[in-house]
Amino acid sequence: MQHLAKVPFPEAERLARSGRALVILPVGVVEEHGAHLPLGLDSFAAEVYAEAAAPRLEERGYEVVIAPTISYGVARAAIDFPGTLSLEPETLRALVVEIGRSLVRHGLQRLVILNGHRDLAHIKSLEEARQTLIEQKTAQVLCVGFTSDPDLTAACYREGVPQLSRSAQPDREGHGGEWETSLALHAFPDLVKQDVVPGLEPNFDYDVEAFRGETKDYWSLSNGSGYFGSPQSGNAETGKKILAIRGRNIAGVILKAWGEPKK
Ligand SMILES: [Zn+2]
Repeated sequence: MQHLAKVPFPEAERLARSGRALVILPVGVVEEHGAHLPLGLDSFAAEVYAEAAAPRLEERGYEVVIAPTISYGVARAAIDFPGTLSLEPETLRALVVEIGRSLVRHGLQRLVILNGHRDLAHIKSLEEARQTLIEQKTAQVLCVGFTSDPDLTAACYREGVPQLSRSAQPDREGHGGEWETSLALHAFPDLVKQDVVPGLEPNFDYDVEAFRGETKDYWSLSNGSGYFGSPQSGNAETGKKILAIRGRNIAGVILKAWGEPKK
C-alpha cells in the first residue's frame, strides 16, 4: 500500500504500468460529532478503513494506492454546530470528477471512492461523480462505505458489527454514538476528549426517522448535544474489532464487484 502524495512520479508511472493499481480515495467531511469527538472524524475513519482494506486487496493481486483524502463534504444537517463546514453538492462532485480524470490521464483507471460521511446530498454528489467518470472515460469507479444503496452500505459497515454492541439500545446508535466513539478510541485516541465522555448521557430518545431521512437538523434532533446513541458504550477494544471487520468487508465488496486484476 502506498500513499499517492508520498511517492515520486516514476513510482506513479510504474503503478499505472503494472495494470494492478487500485486507487482508493477516502472522502469525509468537517462536521460536529458530539463534544467528545473531533470534527474530522469521518475523514479519519475513511482513511483508516482504506488502510485496513488495502492488505486484503493486495493479497489478491492489487497494488493499492491511497489518494489524499477529500476532507470536505456536504454537511447541511449539522451546519448549526460551530466548526461544521459544508460544500455545495456540485463543488464536491466537480472535485471528485477532476481528481478521477487526472488519475485516468496517467493510466490509473481503477478508482474506489470510500465515503465515511452519511449525508444524502453528499452521497448523491459522489455517485453522480462516479457516473460522469464512467460515461466520459474508460475508468472503473466504485462507491463504497456510505452509499445510496442500503445493502451495499450494510455490506461495508454493518455486517459483523451489531453483535459487538454494548449499548442498552443498539438500534439507536448513530452519529457520535457507540460506534464512532469506539473507532476513535482505538484509531485516534489522542483526538477524543475522554474526560468529557462520562458526562454524556445516552441519547436514545430522538426521532430516528427524521435522523435517517434528514428531515430535521442535528441541533434540534439532539437538543444541541450533537450525538445519537451512547458514547459511554464506546471502547477501544470494540473499535479495534470494528476496524478489522470493516476493512475486510470493504475489500470483500470491491473484490465482489471487480474480481482480481488480470495477470
Ligand atoms: Zn460520522
